[in-house]
Amino acid sequence: MTRFLTALTLAGALASSALAADKLKIVATIPDLADMTRQVGGDYVDVTSIATGVEDIHAVPMKPSFAVTLNKADAVVVVGLEAEHAFMPALLEASRNPKIQRDQPGYIDTSVYVTPLEVPTRIDRALGDQHPMGNPHINLDPVLAKDMVRAIADGLARLDPPHESTYQANMKAYLAKLDAAIARWEKEAAPLRGKKLVSYHPDLLYFAERFGMEPVGTIEIRAGVDPTPGHIEQLEEQMRREKVDVVVRELNYPAGLAETVAQATGAKLVELPVMAGGLPETKDYISFVDYNVRTMLKAVQGG
Ligand SMILES: [Zn+2]
Repeated sequence: MTRFLTALTLAGALASSALAADKLKIVATIPDLADMTRQVGGDYVDVTSIATGVEDIHAVPMKPSFAVTLNKADAVVVVGLEAEHAFMPALLEASRNPKIQRDQPGYIDTSVYVTPLEVPTRIDRALGDQHPMGNPHINLDPVLAKDMVRAIADGLARLDPPHESTYQANMKAYLAKLDAAIARWEKEAAPLRGKKLVSYHPDLLYFAERFGMEPVGTIEIRAGVDPTPGHIEQLEEQMRREKVDVVVRELNYPAGLAETVAQATGAKLVELPVMAGGLPETKDYISFVDYNVRTMLKAVQGG
């Protein structure tokens, strides 16, 4: 009996080590995408994330080790809409890995099913525009996240057709989990309807739309353009006039100015992560959205 069990254990160990070698090596840009890719890829993927969740997605610091990891990757998973333009093009070039370059099967763009908001009519990077393709902060909206999960399932099936049915089944299971959470959030978030918010950067747009909040303005003049005293004065005036409820300080932006603006206008200051992994209690995608809904609710309800 013991010998039989040992043989079984050994066979199991061999099988799992063979599997480890066969796993697709996937590099996601942010922890949200790493979680979604693990959910869909299950045992067939080995996923790492470039950002840990505390960074600014428009300025993730590049480390030489990223190029090494990317060199061995079978695929990259990106938010898309140029969200990662500050670091991914350079890292992809440094990776010297033809499989993961843009337009290759190993480049999984999770924005392909999303119609972005705030698409500019004129693009001028010289003016510091960080949103050349429209607002890319789609991961803040759990309904858009479903589209992102679908794009990941497509990508994995493209790379690994023999396991397509597993990826489809895993995707369906995760989407069902997301749907249940979305139904709960929409119910819980009812008190957010009609509440007005100002954020440091325009990354709360899709969250606000989803839960019926009204984005009134940003502390930045526009995405990537630092505020001036004149802009802040105008913003505060507008906020008093429109009775703005909440100022969001995304954790990757400085605290001082958001605090000052909230105090000057009587709005409540709320501090939120903009990616999974930004706080210890937001390790995966669902707990991240959970945290944002809960924290926003607490602020609006005077907690
Ligand atoms: Zn942005």
